[in-house]
Amino acid sequence: MKTAVFSTKSYDKEYLDKANVNNLHEFNYFESSLKLKSVKLAEGYDAVCVFVNDVLSKEVVEALAAQNNKAIVLRCAGFNNVDIETACRLGVKVLRVPAYSPSAVAEHAVALIMTLNRKTHKAYNRVREGNFSIERLQGFELSGKTVGVVGTGKIGAAFAAIMKGFGSRIVAYDVYPNKELEAQGITYLSLHELLRQSDIVSLHCPLTPETNRMINRDTLNLMKKGSMLINTSRGKLIDTDTAIEALKEGQLGYLGIDVYEQEEKLFFKDLSEMVIVDDKISRLMTFPNVLVTAHQAYFTDNALNQIAQTTINNLTDIENNTINRQNQVCIDMIK
Ligand code: NAD
Repeated sequence: MKTAVFSTKSYDKEYLDKANVNNLHEFNYFESSLKLKSVKLAEGYDAVCVFVNDVLSKEVVEALAAQNNKAIVLRCAGFNNVDIETACRLGVKVLRVPAYSPSAVAEHAVALIMTLNRKTHKAYNRVREGNFSIERLQGFELSGKTVGVVGTGKIGAAFAAIMKGFGSRIVAYDVYPNKELEAQGITYLSLHELLRQSDIVSLHCPLTPETNRMINRDTLNLMKKGSMLINTSRGKLIDTDTAIEALKEGQLGYLGIDVYEQEEKLFFKDLSEMVIVDDKISRLMTFPNVLVTAHQAYFTDNALNQIAQTTINNLTDIENNTINRQNQVCIDMIK
């Protein structure tokens, strides 16, 4: 299929070209993100291939349909950036990569925990400057601590398995509890009870109207004083303003985020010579107990290979009208 690839980085091109054996599909790579201003770039293509911060609002999806783009192929699992209702109404197919190495994201969540806890990022800088003092680098042991997993799908389950290996007690919250995890000794609680009991809370549920800002002033107040919050899922799960307040008060002891509410203006860009105009992220970066990574949790060789391969398969399936239902996003997934 003739496909316009948006938000292209060097690694997207490298992995898609490698998976596109015999040039089965024709790719044109655009560095620009897909938004109303850039939608015209997709004119004449059968499909658009997009990532997490492309904006597929009602207007953009309508514009795609009007210029006869037949499909939106996501290089990610989450589809909160696509107006699914409009796409379905206008017959624009939406396909995603529902699972690509859940371990990649789960392991990054653990990396955030370990860095915040054992302060290896600070130790690295100290030692390189000849400062061998260990003052203020004290951490805590994960063994025996209670870890709350919010959303026990593929990534949440992989994360819980790793944390169990540390000897932590795992509690979970999900709208659909997983019987297999229960059988492994994971206790499901209400969200409020999970927040009350956990020393570390890690978010692994999708962004939906129900989960939007699920971490807010009320829920932050339920958390143990000084506990740790990790978000590798979607930025809008956390109300950043209230997280900043909670950090200032010491109610929140640590915050590790790979995703951020306003990340589309920042992440995946080199802004090192620019003035950062987003005051919230600038404030977050002043805290010694906050760690921000720029949506890199998925970024492993294994995951990139799987994303590229599934994307190629999705395009082939659309062409042959043999769509893998597991990969298709449909209206009942947002109801
Ligand atoms: P999944 O569909 O396998 O699991 C999601 C789980 O969340 C399901 O068990 C579902 O029942 C649960 N859930 C849905 N609504 C809920 C609610 N209101 N409260 C609690 N739980 C709820 O998805 P996954 O593959 O595990 O991915 C989880 C999320 O991780 C994705 O939605 C995406 O936003 C994020 N993600 C981030 C990265 C990254 O690089 N940072 C990469 C991939 C995915």
